[in-house]
Amino acid sequence: MQYFKEVLLGNKVRTMPECIFCKIAKGEIPSFKVGESEKALAFLDVNPGVKGHTLVIPKNHAESIFDVSENDLKEVSALIKKVAEKMEKNLKADGVNVLNASGKAAQQSVFHLHFHVIPRFENDGLNTWPFKEKLAGLDLKELAEKLRE
Ligand SMILES: [Zn+2]
Repeated sequence: MQYFKEVLLGNKVRTMPECIFCKIAKGEIPSFKVGESEKALAFLDVNPGVKGHTLVIPKNHAESIFDVSENDLKEVSALIKKVAEKMEKNLKADGVNVLNASGKAAQQSVFHLHFHVIPRFENDGLNTWPFKEKLAGLDLKELAEKLRE
């Protein structure tokens, strides 16, 4: 399904594809809402990997972790915590995974920032940690310096 909106580019009105999560945030597409604050929304994933699989998004459009405002991200984080607590309390989850993909290389598929909150149960057979072998011979001091720059 593709949605469009009219935007003004220069002095011309153009039809642009509209972001599906923006439409959900505005209530223009119905969703199974799980929680909400002024700037964040949590709703059930319509193609769940696991029963209770929830998405948490900022209501303001941001493509990924790279362009979201710190304020919006704080609200999203607070809502993620609430959702996780509900999963523990109401779904009797033993744990949760919080996953985000930012960027094509990270397998992001919908380009409106979203965090997956996935309830986990002892012996549920899922594996969200894909790394099998440990990398040897890394200069951790140099890497840490590079990331601090
Ligand atoms: Zn959007």
